[in-house]
Parts: sequence; C-alpha cells; structure tokens
Amino acid sequence: MPGAPFGRSVSTMLTNSLQVAAAERAATDTDPRAELAISVRELHKRYGDRDAVAGIDLDVARGEIFAFLGPNGAGKTTTVEILEGFRDATSGQVQVLGVDPAHAGAAWRSRLGIVLQESAPEPGLTVRECLQLYAGYYQAPKSVDETLELVDLLDRSQERAATLSGGQRRRLDVALALIGDPELIFLDEPTTGFDPSARRDAWAVIDGLRALGKTVFLTTHYMEEAERLADRIAIIADGRIVAQGTPKTLGDRDREAAAIKFTLPGDRTLSDLPEALRLAASVDRSGRVSVSSSHVTADLHALSGWALEQKLELDDLEVRRATLEDVYLRLTHYHEDGGRP
Ligand code: ATP
Repeated sequence: MPGAPFGRSVSTMLTNSLQVAAAERAATDTDPRAELAISVRELHKRYGDRDAVAGIDLDVARGEIFAFLGPNGAGKTTTVEILEGFRDATSGQVQVLGVDPAHAGAAWRSRLGIVLQESAPEPGLTVRECLQLYAGYYQAPKSVDETLELVDLLDRSQERAATLSGGQRRRLDVALALIGDPELIFLDEPTTGFDPSARRDAWAVIDGLRALGKTVFLTTHYMEEAERLADRIAIIADGRIVAQGTPKTLGDRDREAAAIKFTLPGDRTLSDLPEALRLAASVDRSGRVSVSSSHVTADLHALSGWALEQKLELDDLEVRRATLEDVYLRLTHYHEDGGRP
C-alpha cells in the first residue's frame, strides 16, 4: 500500500461501495448544514480523566481557507483526526461535507485530500509515477500534468521521489492529496522546516487551491502563514476554542488601541508632552515612550504639532498595532507582559 498521505485510507478507498455513496448523497440533500464544508457542535474527546477536546463548535464554509491554531497539546491533531474520520469523538455532532466522519465510507473519503506532517511517497518511483499510482485509486482523478503544474513540479516529474528536497517532497505530498480532485483538503503544518522562499512557494500553491474553489483546513504554528492565507482563524487552547474570526478581527484585534512610540530627546521628559498624550504615555526600560491611542490621527497630529513647535525631531516615531502573534499569545495565556503593543 502506498505510504502517507493516503496510507491510512487507500484500502478503504478501494472498497468503494455504491450503497455508501447513495446514503451520503441522501444525507447531503436533506441536511441544511451540508452547505458548510465542516460543522462541529459540542465536540468532546476524553482520554482517561482528561478532556483533550472540551466541547468545541466550528463552522467552515465551502471554499474557505480556515486556519486552526493552538499551542502544543491544545487538541488540534485530535480534532483534525476526528474530522478526517481517523478517530472517534467521545460526544458531539460532526459533519464533514455533510456526513458524519464516524460513519462515512469510501465515497466520502475520496472527496478529501489529506497532507500529513510526515509522509513517505514511494521512494523508488518518479514523481510522475507516484501521481499515476495514486490517480489509479480514483474514478475521476485530475490530470497528472495539471496537478504537477499546480504544485510547480512539472520540471521534476522524471526525478525519483527519494531525491527531492524537503520542500519539493512536501509539494509532492500536496500533489498526491490533490490528484483525486478533492473538495476539502487538510494541510497539517504544511511549511514546517521550510526556508522563507520555499514557504512563499507553498503559499502560492495554497492560494492556487483557493482559486480552484477548494476548502482548506490548515493547522500551522506560523502566524504569518495564517495571516497571509486564512479567510478565518480559530484558536484552540486546552481543548477549548478561545477565539474565532478573520485575521484582522480575531480577539478584537481591530479594536485594540494602537501604540504611538518614539524617543524623547535627552533634555525632555514625559511631563513636557501635551496633556492628552502625557496621560496615556509610559516609558519602557530603554527610554522609549509609548502612547496608547484609540484616535491615532488626532494623537499623531497633537504629537507632531508639539514636536514642530518645540523644534524637535522624533526620528524613531512609529505607530504599532497588535499583530496576530500578540493576539495569539494573549489568548493562549503565554504573553507574559500583558499582551498590549
Ligand atoms: P501539537 O501542536 O503538539 O501537535 P495538538 O494541539 O495537536 O498538539 P493533540 O495531539 O490533539 O494536541 O493532543 C491534545 C491532548 O491530548 C494532549 O494533552 C495529548 O497528550 C493528549 N492525547 C493525544 N492523543 C492521546 C492518546 N492517544 N491518548 C491519551 N492522550 C492523548
């Protein structure tokens, strides 16, 4: 049997059953939540006396790129494996492409593409042969050339899988997950260990999936990746969803005060600043002033007006807003200094 990414699923795919397909189509026709690619309600997974997943709700729309973030041990893999049908839930309702994964069959599975963190495509085969092999498991696979082009491996199609670099291997993994033309793709930390340029290449591939209208469920530890790719993000910590939203609005990021930062010349102190700024200002250990501002335009106007009047240059003046990482660290309780910019 071929190795991952389909290692866990190929044998079940080969036992494709028309009855299962019909039952799945019937479920899709009658359930309004089938409009969603993924719908989860009150999902629990208990190991012994510990809740790895403690009652989570998630909705992922079709065509969406959804990022699932959380610290180590938060419950991501457990949740994803339940969505993929590889693990049973303790309780809760789960629908993936309109079907409960716990009772889904080969026809449903063939609508998923799964890219695991570790994979071992047939090392003796060339890139093209790997894809041809996997294509054989599907009734209506995508064309091998089209798939190779999508992941930018067309010029490597005659190379043996074993000789590919880590980044190229990962692209082959994505190609193998795409060859069945799936509707929903699970990407588990797709760029871990990549250099910055390989990461950007991988992002272009994932953007390509968006353009094809695929739904992508992505786990990642890179905030920049989530920000760059995701339409929506959910953060899980200790088995609970602590925030869901777009990259811009997650955890009220858009409503957080900004910080206007600058260094005062040596002969000036905070008490010299206009009162409205002074009241919202603090100085850090390096002597840099930070003014917490909910009205950035007006506060900058007041500050620059004062500086010009005093004939002062504020060389390192900058406005800083909360980054996705700031929000993530605050929400997952790892931000030791309070989490404000
Ligand atoms: P990481 O980012 O490190 O991959 P994760 O968010 O994917 O972490 P999970 O692998 O889902 O976390 O694990 C959630 C919790 O469940 C952890 O405390 C883990 O130790 C526990 N756990 C996972 N699988 C099992 C298992 N088979 N038996 C017992 N406990 C488990």
